[in-house]
Order: sequence, then C-alpha cells, then structure tokens
Amino acid sequence: MSLDKVYEKVVERNQGEEEFHQAVEEVLESIEPAMEKHPEFADAKVVERLVEPERQIIFRVPWKDDDGEVHVNRGFRVQFNSAIGPYKGGIRFHPSVYIGIIKFLGFEQIFKNSLTGIAMGGGKGGSDFNPKGKSDDEIMRFCQNFMNELYRHIGPDTDVPAGDIGVGGREIGYMYGQYRKIRNRFEGVLTGKTPEWGGSLVRPEATGYGLVYFTQEMLNSNNIDLKGKDVLLSGSGNVAQYALEKCIEQGANVVTLSDSDGTIYDPEGIDEEKKEYVFELKQERRGRIREYAEKYDVEYVEDGKPWGFDADIALPSATQNEIQEEDAQKLTDNDIIAVGEGANMPSTPAAIEIYQQNDILYGPAKACNAGGVAVSGLEMAQNSQRESWTFEEVDKRLHGIMKNIHETCYKTSRKYGDEGNLAMGANVGGFVKVAKAMLDQGVI
Ligand code: NDP
Repeated sequence: MSLDKVYEKVVERNQGEEEFHQAVEEVLESIEPAMEKHPEFADAKVVERLVEPERQIIFRVPWKDDDGEVHVNRGFRVQFNSAIGPYKGGIRFHPSVYIGIIKFLGFEQIFKNSLTGIAMGGGKGGSDFNPKGKSDDEIMRFCQNFMNELYRHIGPDTDVPAGDIGVGGREIGYMYGQYRKIRNRFEGVLTGKTPEWGGSLVRPEATGYGLVYFTQEMLNSNNIDLKGKDVLLSGSGNVAQYALEKCIEQGANVVTLSDSDGTIYDPEGIDEEKKEYVFELKQERRGRIREYAEKYDVEYVEDGKPWGFDADIALPSATQNEIQEEDAQKLTDNDIIAVGEGANMPSTPAAIEIYQQNDILYGPAKACNAGGVAVSGLEMAQNSQRESWTFEEVDKRLHGIMKNIHETCYKTSRKYGDEGNLAMGANVGGFVKVAKAMLDQGVI
C-alpha cells in the first residue's frame, strides 16, 4: 500500500481524530526516501502496523470534590509501540483531552524516544480532568482514582508514564503513592518523581534545558550564536520555565511568556530576579501570567500570543497548533532566524511550510523536546541500579544526548537527500530504528 493510501485509511479508521491525522501525515510525508531504500519495510507492512496502537485503554475516573459532589472523568492510556523498549510517555490532564490527542502524542513519542538512543517504546496517557482551580485534596483524590485503574496496565518493564500538561511533581507524587499502596512495590514505574524517593535530578529542567541545547546546536551549525539574541517563548509551565532559565544562563534575552489567558511582552528581557518571580508565581501560587505585567509594568495582551513581537528566535512551549499560518507569517515578517519546538506539534503544517519557504531554521518537536523523556530514561536507569547521579552528571548526559540527536537529524537529512531538513531527519532517523526492530521481531 502506498503511503498516501495508508494515510487515507488512518483517516477513515480514526474518524474525528484530527490531531492524530496531522501527526501521522507529517511523518508519512517525510519517510518516503527511507521506504525506497528499504523495500523490506513495505513487504512487512511496517507502516500499516506502526499507525495502529498496540493497545488503547479508556477508563472511568470517578472522584469527589470538596463539597462531596461526585464527578466522572475519562482516563486514557495508549500503548503505541514497544518494539524498542517499554512504553514510555507522559500523562496529560487538560479539559481538551480525548483519544485523538492522546494518539497524536503517543505516535510522536515513538520516534522521539527512538531518537534519544535509550531503549524506550512510545505511549501516552491522560484525562479530560481540569486541574485548574482545584484544591490540593481534590487533585490528590483524582490522581488516586486515576491510578486505581491505571496500575494494572503499567510497570517498570511494561509501561512507565511521566508528566505532561497539568501533571507535574505533585501529581506524580499522588499517583506514585497510590501505585505503591495497591501493588506493595517500590519500583521505577513513573518518572518525574521527587529525588528523595527515586526521582532524577534535572528531570524538571530537562525538556526546557534540552530545547535550548538543541537550538544552540542548530544555530552553531549555521555559525550563529544564541548569546545576545531576543527570544519569543510561549507558555509559562514546566517547559517554558526551564527554557527561560537556560536562555538566561546562555546570555539570550527572553522577551515574552504566556498562558491560556494572554501574553506578556517585556522588551528589556526577563532577568534572573524576574525569573524567580515567575517560578514562584507559577510553581507555588499557581497564578496567572497577567500578574507579571502588573508587577513589572509591561505590556499584557489578553488572549494574545507572542508571535507578533520583534525577536530573533521563537521557542513555542505551550501546546499543539499554537503557531498557525498567520502567526508564522508574522514571524517571517519580523525576520525570525530560528524556531525550536518545546511543545508537541506547536506548528501547523501550513506554518512549517512557511518556515521552509523562508529558510527559517526549524527544529521539530520530536527532536527539540526529547530531553524530557531522555532524562526520564536516565531516571529509569538510576532506579534499576538503585543509584542517584549528581546534577552535573545528569546534565552532562542530557547535553550529550541533545547534541547526538541534532547530529542524527542532520546526518540523516544528508543521507536521505535533503541536507539540513531536520524535520525529515528526525522522522526518518526515529522511524528506521523502530522499523528495523519490528522486522527483526516478526509479525506480532
Ligand atoms: P504545563 O502544564 O507545565 O504548562 C503548559 C503551559 O502552556 C501553561 O502556561 C499553559 O497555560 C499553557 N497552555 C496549555 N494549554 C494551552 C492552550 N490550549 N492555549 C494556550 N496556552 C496553553 O505543561 P508543560 O510545560 O509540561 O508542557 C508544555 C508543552 O510541552 C506540551 O505540548 C507538552 O506536551 C510538551 N512537552 C512537555 C514535556 C515535559 O517534560 N513536561 C516533555 C515534552 C514535551 P495555562 O496554565 O493557562 O493552562
């Protein structure tokens, strides 16, 4: 079956799951050169098998709020592909979550995990639960009830979930506690744990730091320095916070941050002291980014996005499809040099086309944001060995992994005839390894 036909079938069999269609299309469009080089992949119907999750679990999550009222949410875990290792991928709590979002994220995760060089398959989970405005007790009860079902499907050698949007250290703690209680086992079944009880240092920082490391590699290979550049950063959650920290450390000037209510623009740049304020605002008070504008008397655009402001580099780190065609046009009009994706699939296909037509350096999410899952892989290794590595050790390994991922993407793009196309390099680089493993293991 041609790749076009495979895509048509995916759309037909997974109706209404637009984000999943988009993620599949983006990969299938770029793996043609690999299929030509490896006719054995088509013979074994590797792609047809790859686009079908190995297992999809949907479950009920009832929980009680502080007034005693019962609510019912829906939980998901999609175990997409385990050809090169146990399923691995985060859990997202956000009201927009449905099976199409979890499948898009799980599908992307297969290639991302493959690129890290660590033995991890692809999976993803979540719920349409909205953590915003909930009390700590409500969050705890929800997480416990979520784990009351999830525990039977996961395990340190089966499936190892982590955090994502709406799931940070607090939620991982409540879920881990419930798993331990039910299973009576203290084992490395979730990553993103607190270092005192099995977590890895640098895991909270990993995605944001990794994004900046990758972006630096991409710039350096074009003889451009990150230092002194103005950066548009979106989001103000886990990824954005640590991308901000690393940008400051590397001498770049972050001028925007956002949340789902709006965007702040601080042309002087967010320095160390302002960064500490953002950390306290978001990690402790769980407040809104609007408060930053009030405190530092800078511009705030309600419902606005960062992409119209003048800068050199864009690091979208909030959510999928946050850069639409018209946003990409604004970036182009402002002579942006590079886009590095911290969020998963933040650019629409039309936006990516604009980057490519205008020679904007483009680092795709599955390469740029792989640092999070890479350090999750290192957390699994530390758990298995019952060891804890130092911050410096883990950070050094993370940096090495991000450099390797960049090199893999670059070399693959050259080998398959489109030098410098890192999106193609990431897709083909991630794909070939998984496809070969599937061939080796037979039709199962
Ligand atoms: P967080 O929940 O910590 O932060 C998400 C941020 O994005 C918040 O500022 C949030 O604003 C904003 N946001 C979320 N949804 C929307 C929306 N629909 N419109 C506008 N803003 C929105 O999540 P993370 O930082 O962990 O994740 C951000 C992105 O990075 C996601 O795409 C995630 O899949 C990806 N990612 C995360 C990894 C990780 O290790 N955490 C690893 C790899 C990828 P508000 O608070 O108002 O909702």
